[in-house]
Amino acid sequence: MTLYLGIDFGTSGARGIVIDEDSTIRGEIRLLCHPDRGDAVVWRATLWELLGAISQDFRRQIRGIAINGTSSTVLLTNAIGEPVCPPLLYKDGRGSVFIKRLAEVAPPNHTVISATSTLAKLLWMQQLPNFSQARYLLHQADWLGFLLHGKLGFSDYHNALKLGYDVKELQYPKWLEDLKIPIKLPKVLTPGERIGELIPGVADQFGLRRDCWVCAGTTDSIAAFLASGAKLPGEAVTSLGSTLVLKLLSRTRIEDARYGIYSHRLGNLWLAGGASNTGGAVLKKFFTDQELVSLSQEIDGCASSQLDYYPLLQPGDRFPVNDPMLAPRLDPRPEDPREFLHGLLQGMARIEQKGYNLLEQLGADKLIHVYTAGGGAVNSTWTTMRKRFLKTNVTPSTHTEAAYGTALLAMGLPIDHQLTN
Ligand code: ADP
Repeated sequence: MTLYLGIDFGTSGARGIVIDEDSTIRGEIRLLCHPDRGDAVVWRATLWELLGAISQDFRRQIRGIAINGTSSTVLLTNAIGEPVCPPLLYKDGRGSVFIKRLAEVAPPNHTVISATSTLAKLLWMQQLPNFSQARYLLHQADWLGFLLHGKLGFSDYHNALKLGYDVKELQYPKWLEDLKIPIKLPKVLTPGERIGELIPGVADQFGLRRDCWVCAGTTDSIAAFLASGAKLPGEAVTSLGSTLVLKLLSRTRIEDARYGIYSHRLGNLWLAGGASNTGGAVLKKFFTDQELVSLSQEIDGCASSQLDYYPLLQPGDRFPVNDPMLAPRLDPRPEDPREFLHGLLQGMARIEQKGYNLLEQLGADKLIHVYTAGGGAVNSTWTTMRKRFLKTNVTPSTHTEAAYGTALLAMGLPIDHQLTN
């Protein structure tokens, strides 16, 4: 059997999924430890633990490995790949002091003009006392991949987007080079492209094949998209987790910083996305997961609620309504919890509808199918409601684990192939 391993370093843990040539899952490993810490030593130990947890029989048959990390989690290393300072996590906003500088050099509304962009983090790290020892900037997935293939200075065009890499022209833009940051920026590959075979010592230590390829990885959210089953222009994934995140596959690239919309490249297509602050976190404030199940069963998803909510935990949303002061609309609150929940679910379904409409208005392909991931995906009453608003087919994602999407990349096939097969 020929097997492929996808490794996910996400926000809530490290996972590995082993698939076969038919993309069928053969094995799955979940580690309870938390890689969501800015500690590269923990990342390394977690990677070794994960490899060690795969059955020996499988390890001998794995021909490709790919890794995804959280987007914009970065570190600096010296010339031999050792970190010279603690990594900065995706949510680290210390780069905010450089937003003005970035706005002066980058094109208007560019995705790097944000406190948490990789480039803002790099400018911030330039002030560190150890910066003089730094030779490479690497994303989390790049560095973990390096531990396996031993080649420094490689990334993929999903991770490199927030560094400012031009994913359309497939090169670093002149304005970025003009910053003359004295460090080696990674060479950017297509996600899934083969970088190198395993370091022999690593292969031998874990009983892996020496001819096992390590492929360029991706980010956790793109990996989850690849896992969903969406492949055609107009197909989308809605993530109903703590927040509401939409991603629509499109032939047109959509960028609009006013709404926090930007597009990742997926082969010859674009993945346009936006995130609203509404979502399951609001439901969680009022209901337990058990209540969500039992009360939802008593709601008629085909019926309209008269309540006109915009469910938020605190004021402000960016997509599809860009208003940092937008007040949560949760009044009036009926006494019957079913009616209240009905209003909340409908309010979020309307925001989802508005979000896809906005992406279409900005030029994305027309929505033809919505896959759903996240805690809310299991709620069939909500699905019925969402179908009414979206006027299209809504189904659960085929697979929801990011590690599955990354395992597909580990097959070493060009990303176009993933989308057409
Ligand atoms: P996260 O974004 O934190 O990873 P998850 O995908 O784990 O989120 O989903 C958790 C969210 O799903 C919670 O905020 C919870 O309110 C919501 N949720 C859980 N069960 C249901 C349900 N049956 N119907 C709707 N929402 C649900």
